[in-house]
Amino acid sequence: METKKNVVVLGAGYGGITAALRLARLFHKHPEYQIHLIDKNPYHTLKTQLHEAAVRKTEISIPIDRIIQRRNIIFHLGEVTRIDPREHIVHGESGSLPFHFLIIAIGSQVNFYNIPGLQKNSLPLQTIKDARMIYDSIGLLCMRAASEPVEERRRDMLRFVIGGGGLSGVEFAAELADHAMQCTRDSHVNPHEIEIIIVESGSQVVSKMDESFAAHVHKKLLGKGVKIIPNSKIIARTPDTATLSSGEVLKTKALIWTGGIRISELARESGLKTGQSGRIIVDEYLRTDGYPFIYAIGDSALAINPYTKETVPAAAQFALQQGRLVAHNIYADMIEGSREPYHPKVLGEVVSLGRHLAVGWLALPFLKKITFVGFLGNLLKTAIQEKHIFHLRKESGKWITS
Ligand SMILES: Cc1cc2nc3c(=O)[nH]c(=O)nc-3n(C[C@H](O)[C@H](O)[C@H](O)COP(=O)(O)OP(=O)(O)OC[C@H]3O[C@@H](n4cnc5c(N)ncnc54)[C@H](O)[C@@H]3O)c2cc1C
Repeated sequence: METKKNVVVLGAGYGGITAALRLARLFHKHPEYQIHLIDKNPYHTLKTQLHEAAVRKTEISIPIDRIIQRRNIIFHLGEVTRIDPREHIVHGESGSLPFHFLIIAIGSQVNFYNIPGLQKNSLPLQTIKDARMIYDSIGLLCMRAASEPVEERRRDMLRFVIGGGGLSGVEFAAELADHAMQCTRDSHVNPHEIEIIIVESGSQVVSKMDESFAAHVHKKLLGKGVKIIPNSKIIARTPDTATLSSGEVLKTKALIWTGGIRISELARESGLKTGQSGRIIVDEYLRTDGYPFIYAIGDSALAINPYTKETVPAAAQFALQQGRLVAHNIYADMIEGSREPYHPKVLGEVVSLGRHLAVGWLALPFLKKITFVGFLGNLLKTAIQEKHIFHLRKESGKWITS
């Protein structure tokens, strides 16, 4: 009996699901190839909306079976624990799977940088489970504060510290500032007793973005009552305190940690070459070093921008682009056409600052760009999120959201 040739996609996040759907389309007329998708969760997480789910009830997951239905994709639920690049096999909870080609798209995890007490006593924001934990903690603290007669203790319960002023920390802080009103209404706590503080190691928040743009974000956050402590690092954490590099000690029950990411040990332990933050080293076609039949994309890949020679940031827009490109390259490797090198396209940047506000810019033809501040920006952010869902729906045929 003739066995099919497997193209395996590991991870059903932004990069992986895009790659799997594109592969299914490209290999449509080649039934001798089988596309496999593996993820430890049965759903695709809209990770760019995690900060919303952390403060209010909102749906940010889509069942994978609904996205891939009627496509030549077999989904395997379970965590992959080892990749054997020499034997062309992935091993995991749901068994072992041989592959002809493999795409690694396992995203990123939180990095606690071995800061004493941090992992045990802080709330990360990387998964739906994390978002639910934060949501529950906020509700609980608001309720406890409502029945706490001593003002100082009440204030300690209502002081939320966010470690890291990057995109996710800033978006979460703004969302929480809006939500604070609801907390005060529902639990009858004094709105003036709620404090939201961002501790940022750099001189400004969202430092990887355009300077004027970051300044806008800074101003809007201050306008929402968020305090920003720049040039400061969290160096130790207990259940009740966060110690800063300046020596200042903040009393807080809730430290939300968005200060850094790293890649799981899976790639390194499997013998793949890794670099900064454990990201997998890839060539210009996004192939791993020494294994041209294994590609890596998204947060898990250390892709280099050929124009600037800088590392491509961990962002959903790049994961999506890379997913489409590697599907094309694998089709070229196996069937026809030529492989294409990766050229990242920065299509824009948008930071949502609560329910009705966002700051951002969008690339226009002829190297022009349009900047948004305010309500329009928020519409743009929603449009970008909807566009991702729209693309998934388009690639997967008749898929219905609810
Ligand atoms: C709060 C927050 C807000 C953000 N906002 C933005 C934004 O506005 N714009 C933007 O561009 N980016 C944003 N990002 C970053 C963006 O979410 C990531 O860059 C993007 O998700 C990366 O896509 P990916 O495909 O590489 O990985 P992911 O989307 O993280 O997917 C990885 C998948 O791999 C699976 N997986 C991992 N390990 C295994 C294993 N061993 N076995 C099986 N399955 C596994 C996971 O379950 C997951 O489904 C934000 C991130 C956060 C946390």
